[in-house]
Amino acid sequence: MSVDLLCFGEPMLEFNQQSDGNYLPGHGGDTSNCAIAAARSGASVGMLAHVGADAFGDSFLSLWEVEGVDTSTVTGSAVAHTGIYFVSHGPDGHQFSYMRAGSASSRVTPQDLPVADIEAAKILHVSGISQAISNTAADAVFAAIDIARAAGTRVSYDTNLRLKLWPLARARAVTHAAMAMADIALPGKDDAEHLTGLSDPDAIVDFYLTLGAKVVALTLGSDGTLVATSDRRERIAAFPVKAVDATGAGDTFDGAFLGELLRTDDPFAAGRYANAAAALSTLGYGAVAPMPTRSAVDRFLEERNK
Ligand code: ADP
Repeated sequence: MSVDLLCFGEPMLEFNQQSDGNYLPGHGGDTSNCAIAAARSGASVGMLAHVGADAFGDSFLSLWEVEGVDTSTVTGSAVAHTGIYFVSHGPDGHQFSYMRAGSASSRVTPQDLPVADIEAAKILHVSGISQAISNTAADAVFAAIDIARAAGTRVSYDTNLRLKLWPLARARAVTHAAMAMADIALPGKDDAEHLTGLSDPDAIVDFYLTLGAKVVALTLGSDGTLVATSDRRERIAAFPVKAVDATGAGDTFDGAFLGELLRTDDPFAAGRYANAAAALSTLGYGAVAPMPTRSAVDRFLEERNK
């Protein structure tokens, strides 16, 4: 089945420590979160992912099916496991422990790509994490980008910098090269500061436009977002909400933004919609559970615009 938006990256099972010390399982992984947010916004979306032949891989397949995310480009590995990570809460705050080395997604190579599905999509979404997990995964993302560009499929890229996965110099080299081939740049402000050495949002946006992106949506946390094209830019304030957990707010922003961009072809309308969806996603704990549906976002926008 062909989909409008294809999200390529590693889904990861999360085990989040609760106050009683036990670990609560949940679903994570930036591009999977983005796909679910897009599906809840009503987009036609699929996952391009590699999972292990284990209970966690099955759990992701069930989740995506329930959420309406197409799984025809999900591959099960017979030899590798689904990636997992633990979130522990100590006196110094959150601590992330990743068990992803050798995971099914990290073993992906350029030869594993579903070429016709990438060509048939309208947007291919990838991230810095999709590339950071291994050298072959970095190569596979570049190959997927090449296939997309040759077919007129737009490429969307979120920096999602994780310095635990690769050193800054390599992250810079790879993400700048990928961003230069992207149509839609979705950097977060903290990432972009590290990667570009710039701190002024306008300068960061100019940096990515100059690299080649046609649309940049720079997310600024509780300061909202700055959306820009070569001839227009708009600072969209965040919706004041009582945020309890911003985990996954950036991923929700991406999915909602891409879903609305597909629907309206207007990056500024997409920025307003995604700002509302991301604000709503901060009202509950975890990444997936609080992601809003389109009707919840529309209701919220109606209320706030009264
Ligand atoms: P990332 O998680 O990628 O660093 P951000 O922290 O920039 O992403 O957040 C992404 C988007 O989520 C922001 O652009 C904004 O729309 C929304 N958001 C994040 N934090 C808040 C908040 N405290 N209140 C309202 N909206 C928020």
